[in-house]
Amino acid sequence: MKLRFIGGASTVTGSCYGLEINELKFLVECGMRQGSGADEANRRPLPVPVSGLDYIFVTHAHIDHSGLLPRAVKDGFKGSIIATPATRDLLEPMLYDSAAIQESDADWATKKRLRLGAPPMEPLYTSDDVANLLTRFDLRPYGKVFHLGGGVKYRFIDAGHILGSAALEIWFQDSEREKKIVFSGDIGKKGNPIIRDPDAAGDADYVVMESTYGNRSHRPLNESIDELATAIKTTFKRGGNVYIPSFAVGRTQDLLYIINNLVREGRLYRIDVYLDSPLAEEVTRVYAGHPECFDEDARRFSARSQDYAMRLHYVRSVEESMALNRLRGGSIIIAGSGMCDGGRIRHHLKHNLWRPECGVIFVGYQASSTLGRKIVDGAKTVNILGEEILVKAQIYTINGFSAHADRKELLEWLSSFADSPQVFIVHGEDAAAEALGSAIKERYGFTTRRPKDGDVVEL
Ligand SMILES: [Zn+2]
Ligand SMILES: [Zn+2]
Repeated sequence: MKLRFIGGASTVTGSCYGLEINELKFLVECGMRQGSGADEANRRPLPVPVSGLDYIFVTHAHIDHSGLLPRAVKDGFKGSIIATPATRDLLEPMLYDSAAIQESDADWATKKRLRLGAPPMEPLYTSDDVANLLTRFDLRPYGKVFHLGGGVKYRFIDAGHILGSAALEIWFQDSEREKKIVFSGDIGKKGNPIIRDPDAAGDADYVVMESTYGNRSHRPLNESIDELATAIKTTFKRGGNVYIPSFAVGRTQDLLYIINNLVREGRLYRIDVYLDSPLAEEVTRVYAGHPECFDEDARRFSARSQDYAMRLHYVRSVEESMALNRLRGGSIIIAGSGMCDGGRIRHHLKHNLWRPECGVIFVGYQASSTLGRKIVDGAKTVNILGEEILVKAQIYTINGFSAHADRKELLEWLSSFADSPQVFIVHGEDAAAEALGSAIKERYGFTTRRPKDGDVVEL
């Protein structure tokens, strides 16, 4: 089996791996790159011709693992996409949203280009490509082994990261024996709200291991919930609003669940929460439609009632979103994107980041060179939509809500591999990947390797 590291080997975004055995060719992940220079990278053709691919596996619906699927279809991919049913249902609103962004970005660029006499800009993909792609899914539940052909078998196991997320086990026939490679996908942490904890993979010869938080420890969820309650209360006391940049998938549903529990338990009064993201609203409905992925707590909640104790408002139109600027204090506004490099949160930050009474709560990973990262790193001013804005609001970073396992939990997940697998460390910035690599060597004695994009290894 030949394994090619196509994207996301030494960065957190753009995950993509190519596998080839005999006549069978497939990808694991088809992720979009994010952050600076991403646009150009996303437009570069894949190093393997997509028309020759038989399958694409997707471990979960986050765009950095799935966002280039419509482009693959556009470029002539004729095979099937293999994912869990919940992943497919999440991908539908997410990829349509992504296509709409691509189309409007291209429109905008085209206007500029035409004024210079340059040719128009084609969108990376369109909603037609997404519609086409949605007819191509092979849906597979957790825990069952399926045959891919050519002696290759596979199984999804629950990764406990977001709804439908999976790690992927693949067995293949070598000249002398059967071998196994495991793709960790993104590993969740134990006790994540709503969904179940990650399952352990059995033994393997190779593991392609994510390392997002390979050098960090998260605070326990309870402490993070306390921090959140305090940040909200102190911001309201100062007379400001709370702004939470949040990913539409996973984090937003966790936050709604947690804030609602705080109100139910009487720790917050019956506050107004504005979910300013039509995408997050759709995703919240997909979550509600997949109780088979829930843990026991969430199952009890959904069985009892779907009613919220907080006052939850879904904000749909742009006019409604702009009207939120009239709210001076006492409300929570959740909007995307999670790293502030797109979406409606940029408008809210532009209008409120300079107001010292407001609070901005970061609850997720901020990739380097994103607007979110600049704010978290303490920038005094930031450029938002072409304007320099003072950062005077209180900035809170609460990392215990991460849907990712921290260093300790990543190591724990690896404890089920008894047979000394070779571990490829991917999906992490340098410091995180290096720290996790040394910890794995020290704790388990496994051989570790940090591949780069473009590397090809024979398994
Ligand atoms: Zn993810
Ligand atoms: Zn990821």
